[in-house]
Amino acid sequence: MADQRPPSTITLTPGKRVLFLTKDLDLIKQQLYDGLELQMKDLTVDDLLDDINTDVMTPAWVCFDHDPAEIAKNAYAGLMHNGLRVFRENALKDGQFEVIVSGQRKGTGSSRETAAQCERWAGINIVIAASFAPIHERNNINLGQLMGTHAMLERLQAGESIALSEFTAKYDPVTQLIVEHGGLFPFAKALKAGELDLAPLNTPSRPMTMAERIISRNLVGQPEGQCVKPGDPVIAEVQGGYSHEFTTAQVHTFLAEVYGEGYTLPNPDKFAVFEDHLLYAHHNPKFVPFMDKVQTLRDLQVAFQQHTGVRDYSAIDGVSPGICHQVAREEFIEVGDFIQATDSHTCMGGASNALTWGVGATEYANLVSAGFTFVKVPESIRFELVGSLNPGCTAKDVILAILADHARKELTLNRSMEFGGPGLASLSVDERATLCNMATECSGRTGICEADEALLEWMIKAQPHLSLSEQRARSVKPDEGAHYDGGVHVIDLSSIVPMVAHPGDPDQGVPSDPTNGANISDIGEVAINIAYGGSCTAGKEDDIAYYAQVCQAAKDAGLKVKAGVDFYIQYGSGQVKALAQRMGWHDLFLEVGVKLIDPGCGACIGAGPGVSITPEQVTVSAINRNFQGRSGPGKLYLASPLTVAASAFTGTISSWQDDLFA
Ligand code: SF4
Repeated sequence: MADQRPPSTITLTPGKRVLFLTKDLDLIKQQLYDGLELQMKDLTVDDLLDDINTDVMTPAWVCFDHDPAEIAKNAYAGLMHNGLRVFRENALKDGQFEVIVSGQRKGTGSSRETAAQCERWAGINIVIAASFAPIHERNNINLGQLMGTHAMLERLQAGESIALSEFTAKYDPVTQLIVEHGGLFPFAKALKAGELDLAPLNTPSRPMTMAERIISRNLVGQPEGQCVKPGDPVIAEVQGGYSHEFTTAQVHTFLAEVYGEGYTLPNPDKFAVFEDHLLYAHHNPKFVPFMDKVQTLRDLQVAFQQHTGVRDYSAIDGVSPGICHQVAREEFIEVGDFIQATDSHTCMGGASNALTWGVGATEYANLVSAGFTFVKVPESIRFELVGSLNPGCTAKDVILAILADHARKELTLNRSMEFGGPGLASLSVDERATLCNMATECSGRTGICEADEALLEWMIKAQPHLSLSEQRARSVKPDEGAHYDGGVHVIDLSSIVPMVAHPGDPDQGVPSDPTNGANISDIGEVAINIAYGGSCTAGKEDDIAYYAQVCQAAKDAGLKVKAGVDFYIQYGSGQVKALAQRMGWHDLFLEVGVKLIDPGCGACIGAGPGVSITPEQVTVSAINRNFQGRSGPGKLYLASPLTVAASAFTGTISSWQDDLFA
């Protein structure tokens, strides 16, 4: 948190080094341990690792430390080669590196700020990549990290000095000020102290997308009705937010460091803490040694809640109220809200026609203490849904198709993914939440669905304190003629087929990634050891109904879960579990051999029953991401709830059809 303003001219520091994250992992080891020095002029971007995800930079167990200096000791602990860590403890720090270099899409995956922290606190202050995942880029900015291109690095290595302004030229004026001040906290302090003047917004009246509409109506310090356009740097009010036990400790610590131990929050009732991510962590033998650190995280979350008075969703008798994103939808995200929370799947709230996205601990700490946040208005991409899904297909197949096509082409990168069109009505609100949830896997800024009568009815049942007309008045729709930088893409739902995202071949440089789409009909026979149904993506009421549909058919056919397969279902919230009990699904699941897990996150984050134990194990899972090592060392295929359940009974990855067990 120390003030570390970058100099106005950037040069490489004598004695400091540049680390190239090459696809050839042996070259990384030679740089780390044998003093190998590489030059950008001798390499191409293709030689460098793409899609380095935040789980690789700081796997879950590394995040059990909340002190960034401790986190830095295990930077890149998730990068494995032949089953061994490429980066041993302290390897990044001890290497005296100040620049780190990779290929495309640096920092995909979860929003964890620890990934950016691990580099910063290991001495890195310049990060070079061809592109960055949006939240990771923002986290770097908030920490004051400089991000540059491979061409700039070539010049630096040739001994050239580069003006700081060249590093910041691509940013809006507010982001430039944040970087020039050395990060978000020093910037916010300067702003509060009246030391900074922000340029007035002069965007003329224009048709706006849904994301732009919501930002525009939350502008602070601008006239009523002021329009925004992509790239506008604005200060916007947020209606609420939340953090969980993986992130709250840092929020508490940072606020105490910056504003003193007696800091207060202006609107604590708008914010919440959840105990959902680590409740079942002790089930993973790898995490058992860290349980004292997990307890520290829990204790610090309790301390934060008691200190600030934010809404409390702590576990009761060891059972979580549910996954934060699911409970937030059920209980407090309202139509048209602007919500920010410390987790990348915050975007799931977009199903409620709200603008919701994940932020790092630094940004969250800043917004809970200020009540507003700094936003660069994102570009949008529209998905116009037409037709309806064929039997055996779900929203998960739709988003896997978008991942394999639009996201792989980077059309969704950093954009608000707007879902609308007549086909949207054929998807339930829970299914829409699946689309929005995985906007983050698309490296999108967020996902947001149009409001319709189905949503308003769902909202009335979930949150009866608002009337139908109040809900309707809060809803947003895109203006006629709104501009989509990512284009308008028609998705014919009837053309969607059951899909998986396959686990690639990480040892050969093909990462396990949600964009590895494949039609199930093309993957041949893939035997499985684990089927997992749960997570924020697939632990909702309608997902549980899908599992129940298949389990009922299996029961009618006299089947049980295939011998040698473990089929886990984890409820997304207490409400979801209660529904399963009311509907008789809970008993049905037990009858056919499903292993049921109480609400919360679990195997999805490698912290609960259902993780793989050996590299040979194969999992088919309804969760949202299959990054290497996230849910154990095995191979993980992403698939729909129907596919997961069907596969549990056949023992091989199988799409669902009504006569599958006939
Ligand atoms: S279920 Fe998984 S992806 Fe969702 S919030 Fe929990 S850990 Fe994150």
